[in-house]
Amino acid sequence: MNIHIDQVIKRFGTFHALNEISLQINPGELVALLGPSGSGKTTLLRVIAGLESADEGEVYINGDNVTLDDVQKRQVGFVFQHYALFRHMTVFENVAFGLRVRPRRIRPAKAEIQAKVSELLDLVQLRGLSNRYPDQLSGGQRQRVALARALAVEPKVLLLDEPFGALDTKVRRDLRQWLRKLHDELAITTVFVTHDQEEALELADRVVVMNHGKIEQVGTPEEVYQSPLNPFVFDFMGSVNIFHGRIEDGIAKLGSIEVDASTTKKLDGEAVVGYVRPHDVEIITQKDEADLEAKVLHIHPIGPTVRLELTHVDDKEHIQAEVNREDYELLQIKSGDQVALKLRKLAI
Ligand code: ATP
Repeated sequence: MNIHIDQVIKRFGTFHALNEISLQINPGELVALLGPSGSGKTTLLRVIAGLESADEGEVYINGDNVTLDDVQKRQVGFVFQHYALFRHMTVFENVAFGLRVRPRRIRPAKAEIQAKVSELLDLVQLRGLSNRYPDQLSGGQRQRVALARALAVEPKVLLLDEPFGALDTKVRRDLRQWLRKLHDELAITTVFVTHDQEEALELADRVVVMNHGKIEQVGTPEEVYQSPLNPFVFDFMGSVNIFHGRIEDGIAKLGSIEVDASTTKKLDGEAVVGYVRPHDVEIITQKDEADLEAKVLHIHPIGPTVRLELTHVDDKEHIQAEVNREDYELLQIKSGDQVALKLRKLAI
């Protein structure tokens, strides 16, 4: 189902949280709303959901003008960062909830609900946990229950507001990969809010970069990263390292770096771009284990971390690394040194 937002304005008092936003989201797309805090991402998501009404402009879902419809009528599924599950209900009951509270004439039979919930728990890989209570689950498991609950009512679109924001980095990354796969399997139009560039670049088909209630740029991750339309997008996307290359024999070859490309839809010979965040660039002492070597240009200590500006010794591309101060001091790095780098995580 497609979503069409047409010149939407949302004010809180005299403050314009959304300033004439127009956006077209295609059926089955996974779109990220990306921007700094206060840029209007959540407000836009809430306007699409019907949790907030637009002061001006229109919202269409699947071609229907839903501007005046309430949340239920819009048939959207949503998951929030702190979307509390019902604590007194088991995982099964939480997921079944939306189906059980339907009016009698459209409520599925008990056996049907049972089958549907089992199917969803399989989908979110929580099959064995249906009798647990939310308190007996990890944060990542809870968010997967929340997702299963949102999907149970077969929403037209799925809206996610920083769904993994409260989780630790490792879990967050795993869930991200998992969400991408789930989305591809279901092909449900999905909009998610994030302030994390890496998350948007890794997960989304298209990224909507927002600032001060306006859209600064809409494009594929590659477009917004490589061809920023204005200084804001350039700055905002700046803190990600980028490596260019091509797919060969199912492997992404990015200069001296090689990564398995089986998770992308790209074919042999196609150009590919890898993204690495500065904190995923590790300085190692074993040169033979390095992904690449680089020369240290500048060193900027920032609180407990140290940011290093480097250049790749082979292709002279600019690289940023962020290491913690203890590691930095241990390694005794100086400007002008040549160091071995390991990329802990590279998204393609
Ligand atoms: P964050 O990443 O911090 O959640 P965001 O990009 O999602 O930020 P919004 O939550 O959409 O931003 O908020 C946009 C602006 O609108 C902010 O300046 C916020 O203070 C303001 N705002 C949001 N909701 C309300 C409200 N109910 N009343 C008044 N102002 C609001």
